[in-house]
Amino acid sequence: MSEFKKLAGLTGMKDTLPPESSRWQQLEALVQQWLAAYGYQNMRTPVLEHTRLFTRGIGEVTDIVEKEMYSFVDPLNNERLTMRPEFTAGIVRSAIEHNFLYDRPRRIYAMGPVFRHERPQRGRYRQFHQIDVEALGFSGPDVDAELIIMLARLWRMLGLNDIRLELNSLGQATERAAHRAALIEHLERHIDVLDEEARRRMHSNPLRVLDTKNPVMQEMANAAPRLFDFLGPESRAHYAGLCARLDDAGISYTLNPRLVRGLDYYNLTVFEWVTDRLGAQGTVCGGGRYDGLIELLGGKPAPAVGFAIGMERLLDLWQQDAPQEASAECQVYMVHQGDAGQRQVVRLAEALRDAGLQVLVHAGSTGFKSQFRRADASGAAVAIIVGEDELSSGCATVKWLRARQDDTPTQQESVAFAQLVDYLKQRI
Ligand code: ATP
Ligand code: MG
Repeated sequence: MSEFKKLAGLTGMKDTLPPESSRWQQLEALVQQWLAAYGYQNMRTPVLEHTRLFTRGIGEVTDIVEKEMYSFVDPLNNERLTMRPEFTAGIVRSAIEHNFLYDRPRRIYAMGPVFRHERPQRGRYRQFHQIDVEALGFSGPDVDAELIIMLARLWRMLGLNDIRLELNSLGQATERAAHRAALIEHLERHIDVLDEEARRRMHSNPLRVLDTKNPVMQEMANAAPRLFDFLGPESRAHYAGLCARLDDAGISYTLNPRLVRGLDYYNLTVFEWVTDRLGAQGTVCGGGRYDGLIELLGGKPAPAVGFAIGMERLLDLWQQDAPQEASAECQVYMVHQGDAGQRQVVRLAEALRDAGLQVLVHAGSTGFKSQFRRADASGAAVAIIVGEDELSSGCATVKWLRARQDDTPTQQESVAFAQLVDYLKQRI
């Protein structure tokens, strides 16, 4: 026995094993098809970035930057690094660095793990996955609408019909400044109900105070001056332009004046898709416009809008609707006896793979009985057997393992090695 003490994985960071992993692959394949239908292209950026990218991009006074980032000093070159807590900042950094928007706006997406040090619970993990979509260089409400319309299509593709859309507009900086003064006054009047975090943030980031989940503060937050009421004609026109397009597409929404989102970079449109079916963590997707971020991170000013979907929450919903059947490991399972038999099935298996079939060759030299048990457990449709008799006759024994719709015998038949590919191609 090893002296090494058995180790468990980190809290809030999940392993995904088969067959659950095949559900992830199905979702990823579907998502790629969905994104391609709208002309979005893939961008891949590193998991690690300079910490200051996120402190500047997301904002110092936000949950993510104040308490959720996995940051450390790389002792090898003394750099402050952070594991990405979201995709947008890294994508914008990359777009600026590679002058990616120099000749035209771009529609892009990324998919993968992000990291936030939060208290783990259902729908909330420390490593989780996002599908992140960004339309860089577009200013109009037509693209805000495009993003929302495409999300509605994804929910349809997955058969999800109970995710509702909440919208708000955060206006422009000048409008937020006027609202801010009124909001701080309101918060000062209700200082007795503010929790410690709210008191700390009420002057540095008062809007964020309204994002609270503290039940004691709900009444105060509901009664607070609404940013939406401070919007000027241009911001209102942008919002109306979005709403008109959602109406055209038959997408319903509600205006939620308290929707502010947990990151600093948003302006004008913000939105969330929410469901009641996931308990407390009901937000499946959040997004909005961030016209100032590219310039804030050192790029040539350009507007942008995007969203992120939480993949664990989406899978949880999808799984509730369509529980997964165990997926097969292969289509064909090769059973063999003797050294020559094993070598013959390897040749046959390669030929079957050339023809596009998924083939598992039994490893090792166990008895037929245990090989058939494995063949059955693999979920394969058919077992191909090569023992001494088959070698001398030049024909494999074919045994269908599952009931079939056509009239192929469910019992055994004999098929010449040279015919095996054609025979199986026609029947699988
Ligand atoms: P929440 O209010 O639930 O904390 P958020 O506003 O922090 O969400 P975003 O930064 O908008 O979330 O991230 C986009 C999406 O990623 C969320 O809508 C949610 O589906 C998912 N998400 C966020 N945090 C987690 C987490 N810790 N674990 C799993 N999914 C998450
Ligand atoms: Mg959060």
